Amino acid sequence: MLNGYIAYLNFLNEKLDRFFESQKPFIFCKKGCSKCCRNAQFPYSVIEMKYLLNGLLSLDKEIQMQIEKNLKNILAQKQQFSGKKFRYDCPFLINDSCSVYDYRGVVCRTFGLMTRYENDKLRAPFCTFQGLNYANVLNLKKRTISPRKYKKLNVKEEPLGFNISYKYLTDEEFEKAFGFQFGEKKPLIEWFTAKTEPEPVPDKKRKSAQI
Ligand code: SF4
Ligand code: SF4
Repeated sequence: MLNGYIAYLNFLNEKLDRFFESQKPFIFCKKGCSKCCRNAQFPYSVIEMKYLLNGLLSLDKEIQMQIEKNLKNILAQKQQFSGKKFRYDCPFLINDSCSVYDYRGVVCRTFGLMTRYENDKLRAPFCTFQGLNYANVLNLKKRTISPRKYKKLNVKEEPLGFNISYKYLTDEEFEKAFGFQFGEKKPLIEWFTAKTEPEPVPDKKRKSAQI
């Protein structure tokens, strides 16, 4: 089943690379910026988790131990939490960098782009409001694209939103097309209260899944 998911990831990567390329003047992602991996819920499905765990097992023992420590701390904070939505820094974030980058889930691959929903509503990434992606073209008060700011940039690329919501990207149309199932979805941390076994990655596909 991982074969189908890996083929889907290759398709998704190719698509997202094109989207990022088309938004270059508005994107400020750089090494060491890890705000998108913090203070969130990170939805993950069964198959994404299985693949992610393969990434975990491929890491040095020392990093695995750091992740285990992060997990324990987050689970302890979760036990004390009494609100509705528990947010946390991703346990796989080590020294401001993703330790399982090639194995990261669908939502992680879309971080930083603007989302367009079916009703044509746009949602800027949260980091826009911290002066990062798209902040150079958005009117932050009105939450719309500012023609004045855009003109000032004098670039040929247009700021666009893409159909990249987690709901859409994990739709059954992709399951049918690539022959796999996402399975149950829940916040990443909740998978660690129950045991999730990694499914071995087929050797031939391991390489092609890398970005
Ligand atoms: S898996 Fe990696 S990219 Fe995704 S939230 Fe965690 S650290 Fe960030
Ligand atoms: S998406 Fe935003 S927060 Fe994440 S790396 Fe890019 S600029 Fe930083």
